[in-house]
Formats: sequence, structure tokens, C-alpha cells
Amino acid sequence: MLLATFVIGSLTAQDIHTIINAQEVERIEKILSSDDMQGRATFSPGIEKAADFISNEFKEAGLQTLNNSGTYRQAFTMIQSKPISATGTFDGQPIAPEHIIPVTSQSELTVGSSSGYEKAFIRAGSNFSMEALKYLQGNKNYLVLVDTSFAKNFPRIARFTRQQFKSDRSLIFVLTTVDPGEYSISIKQEVRESKLANVVGILPGKSKKDEYLIFSAHYDHLGIGKPNEKNDSIYNGANDDASGSTAVIMLAKYFSRLGNNERTLVFATFTAEEIGEFGSQYFSRQFDPLKVVAMFNIEMIGTESKWGTNSAYITGYDKSDMGKILEKNLEGSRFTFYPDPYPQQQLFYRSDNATLARQGVPAHTISTSKMDSEKYYHTPGDEIGTLDMNNMAQIISAIAISSTSMVAGKDTPSRVDTQQLR
Ligand SMILES: [Zn+2]
Repeated sequence: MLLATFVIGSLTAQDIHTIINAQEVERIEKILSSDDMQGRATFSPGIEKAADFISNEFKEAGLQTLNNSGTYRQAFTMIQSKPISATGTFDGQPIAPEHIIPVTSQSELTVGSSSGYEKAFIRAGSNFSMEALKYLQGNKNYLVLVDTSFAKNFPRIARFTRQQFKSDRSLIFVLTTVDPGEYSISIKQEVRESKLANVVGILPGKSKKDEYLIFSAHYDHLGIGKPNEKNDSIYNGANDDASGSTAVIMLAKYFSRLGNNERTLVFATFTAEEIGEFGSQYFSRQFDPLKVVAMFNIEMIGTESKWGTNSAYITGYDKSDMGKILEKNLEGSRFTFYPDPYPQQQLFYRSDNATLARQGVPAHTISTSKMDSEKYYHTPGDEIGTLDMNNMAQIISAIAISSTSMVAGKDTPSRVDTQQLR
């Protein structure tokens, strides 16, 4: 009697099932994967509904907003561009329009020798993609001279940058063998701006406020598309990745009730994963990577793993010792986490953990998805009826338990050696 009275009001870790259980999983999953959300496509009204719902859940969980912004929506702007014209000269000689690719948020831009653009080169024999990426992700205005031996790769820049973050920075790529003294290039393009938003909330740490632990998933999916044989055209994405988003919401509620996190916990659901991981890229850039202790990204945990119930895998297992810490915390429980059994699929690089991992953060994805036989993956059949609510609740509990020593500020996983990444 007395003992029962004594523990009321405070939640012990053993009471985890009072917060994380199959009924609650089902309640959240039902809403996120409903036809009403129309498959949560980026830029659609459906995803706005999902963002409202998640914001509301974060509020109920008692999360604070990031940087006291007053909203759980972490908004940013993307631009989509369509070329109209490109003209230019190198030392008075005209450049073929198809040899000019601008990467800019401006609808009109003229760049000349005196514009202060730094000249950069992608020379014959170098790694084209890596070089191009280096300048695209840099922080200067560039005139990038691409050797004509890359004539075949060159148009990929335009495809790759059709969708980009709004930026004050511009680059002009030119396919050429010339290193011009004098030059002038003018471009015109149609530019459309769209607003997107991640949904982010935090629980500030008690003693280690400046050390962040991130729990994340993407809440966007594919929207409405090609109908299947049942004439269903809504890609509900119940597993991909409403299941991960459900986990993030439930972990937020669990840790908020527990109320003893020494490190700051960040709960993030990302937009635009399916069209290029833009949400997580934007999110990741708002943090000093050195302050991010670890990231638990959660992707597709709605079905049993290849080992059956109560088990999941960690992508990029050998890239840090985070997996070992999780295993240690799970010792004595009924849960097992394994290294990713599908290394040939490069899952480590294919989800929202990748941006922070490339900056050295132990950022891994936890999943149960059978990537070689997940029947409803990216089909309209990815619906709540195909998911195992009980197992999902178990996996979410397992993630909570596996993080215990890191939440308490006791364990710090080793950093990812970015030199070893492909
Ligand atoms: Zn997907």
C-alpha cells in the first residue's frame, strides 16, 4: 500500500509499457497512415496535416521547441528551377548554351571576371561526383570549369540540382577545355519556391545540456501514385516511415515522463526523405556536429525482422561502437540488436542518418525491415493492416532501453571516421 502511494507521480523505467504499448502504437499509426493524409507527399496538403498532428503530440508530450522558436515546425525553403536561357563568352569566344549549368536561387544572373567568383576546376582524371559535390556543398560563389572529358557526366549536375535549398550562393558550371582570362555568363530560369518543415522538439538535459542525443524518423512518404491491382493509389507508408515517426512520438512521451535525462534529447521527424533527404540535411546543418553525441534514426520497424520478434538491426554497425553500447544496455532483456544483414544495400548511406554520419557523428539507423523481401515496400499496400503493433511496441521499448546509458550521460560512442566512408 505505502509503496504504491510512494511511487505515484514518478515513472520508473520498469513501467515502460504504461507509455509504450500496442494500443498507443495503433492510435498514432492509424492517424499517420490514414488515407486522409494522402500518403504524406512532400509539398502536399497531406503532409501538412501530418505535421500538425505530430506537433500536437510533441506538445502533449511536454517537449520544448528548438532554440525557443515557439513552433515545433522547423521551416525552410526549397527552390525548383527550370532553365530558360544561358549565354556566355570565354575570352570573347561564345560558349554553347548546353555547356552552361547554373546552380542558383536567382531567376536572372550575370557573372563576369570582376564578379568575385572563385574559379575552380574539375580536371580530367579526377572523381567527377566528389569534386562536383565539394563545390556544391562549399560556401563560396564558384565558376567551375569542367573538363570536356566529363561531357557525359556533365548533365547530371542539372538533374541533381533541379531541387535545391534556397541560397544566397551561386555556382556556374561550364564544360570547357579553356581557362579564360575574361569571361561573362548570363542565365535566366524559372524559379519556384516551396516551404517545407521538419517537426522538432526537445527535452533539455539536466546536467549536460550541450550534449545532444537525437531520435529521428522521416514523416514524409510517396503520396498518391500509380494504382495497384486493387485500384488503390494512396501510398500510405504505414511502415515507411510512419512506424519510425510513431516511435519518435512515443519515445518523446516516455522520456518526458521519466524526466531524468542528463543529456538534451532531440526528437525530430523529417520531411522530404523520399525525394532526396532534404529535411534531414537541413536539420543536420543546424547543429554543431561535435555536440551531437549520437543519432538514433528509426526506419521501418513495423514488421518482424529476419530473426523474428523482439529483434532489430543497426546500419553501419562497424562505423562506431554505438551498436556495442546498445547491446550492452539490452543485456538481460528479451531484445537483441544485430549488425545490418544487408550490407550490399548500403542502408547506412540511404537514410536520414547519413548527413550527420558524414560529419563524424555516430548516427545509425535502426530497422526491422527485410530489405530483400519486404513485400509492400514503396507500394500502395504499405498499410497499417500489414504491421505488427505488438512487435512495434516492443521494438520501441527496446530502443528506449538500449539508449539508457547514453541518455544518462554515462556512455559516449566513438565517432565515425569520415575517411572510411565511401
Ligand atoms: Zn521509402
